[in-house]
Amino acid sequence: MTTVTETVYHICTRCILDTSDRDIEFDDNGVCNHCREFDTIVQNRGPGSEQSQKSLETLCERIRAEGEGKPYDCLVGLSGGVDSSYVAYLAKQYRLRPLAVHFDNGWNSELAVKNIHRIVSTLEFDLQTYVIDWEEFRDLQRSFIKAGVIDIEMLTDHAIFASLFRISRENDIKYILSGVNVATESGMPRSWTWFKQDFRNIKAIHDRFGDVRLKTFPRVGTLKWLYLTFISRDFYFVDILNYVNYEKEKAMTVLEDKLGWQYYGGKHYESLFTQFYQAYILPEKFKVDKRRVHLSSLIRNGEITRDEALQEMEKPLYDPKLLKAHKEYVLKKLGFSEEEFGRIMREPPRDHDFYPTSQSIIDVLKKIKKMISPGSRKPSN
Ligand SMILES: [Zn+2]
Repeated sequence: MTTVTETVYHICTRCILDTSDRDIEFDDNGVCNHCREFDTIVQNRGPGSEQSQKSLETLCERIRAEGEGKPYDCLVGLSGGVDSSYVAYLAKQYRLRPLAVHFDNGWNSELAVKNIHRIVSTLEFDLQTYVIDWEEFRDLQRSFIKAGVIDIEMLTDHAIFASLFRISRENDIKYILSGVNVATESGMPRSWTWFKQDFRNIKAIHDRFGDVRLKTFPRVGTLKWLYLTFISRDFYFVDILNYVNYEKEKAMTVLEDKLGWQYYGGKHYESLFTQFYQAYILPEKFKVDKRRVHLSSLIRNGEITRDEALQEMEKPLYDPKLLKAHKEYVLKKLGFSEEEFGRIMREPPRDHDFYPTSQSIIDVLKKIKKMISPGSRKPSN
């Protein structure tokens, strides 16, 4: 287990990631490891290049051919946010026939839901909404908050992942289009999230702090996930945005003009809990401001300058009135008193591996990943 040590403050000379990422490393020019990793990925993949356009054409041809005679040839998860909405738009451009799936964990903003309905009706896609059992999910979120671990969003990410597998299987779908991309999502510090497939960690934390028995929470064990994605290869994740010249601002304009989509004010703010988590819990308890990651991605992608990003960081994370309203709403919905929540927030954070994890399996996975040549797993990552 790594412990947080006090270090001298340092900020990257190219992006705005700083020593709030406890694992950050700088080269002689003061450029951070995330910027260097981004350059390597872009060099290898060349998003938007002629070759990558061609690869995407070939891949889509294959998806269409393999899906012939079936109701759908791929699946797209829709959150109503920019990335996933643009994936849906691209799917139509490439003449794919996706089943759109929306995951409802009880926190989606009205605007996000409105966006989703506009998108599917304009693009003429079928929509399936997966509604999670709220009592179970609430108990899991309460457990993670009480446990003091950083990646509370791991619960949603894990459940989305597991339910996408399930729905793909039920509908005989092999290809899952994902909104994962280097343009707007690169450079997430390792210590700010946890391995999303680690159901053992979720269960261990819930066993210790939860009250409700988990019956329907969508889950996929680490070993099963390894088997499905690396061995049986029943599913392929297609990170379609990494093939094209993906720029957030341009994507938003396209979505607004073509699909009547509306912006909701911040990265992943399509969910009220995510907004409260990113703009209050993370900075208050973990001294983490995720805007650093999002803005740094935009700097690397050439969409904003470093100075503009620094100016953006000067803005408050929350309007005080809105924070008060959101806090009251979130606490009431999760069943915390102001006093209890305040006490938890003041407790020191705990690393995920303070509780049992699938770390040993994750280590094996990393070795397997190295052994498998990158070409043999195409078209997924
Ligand atoms: Zn950097």
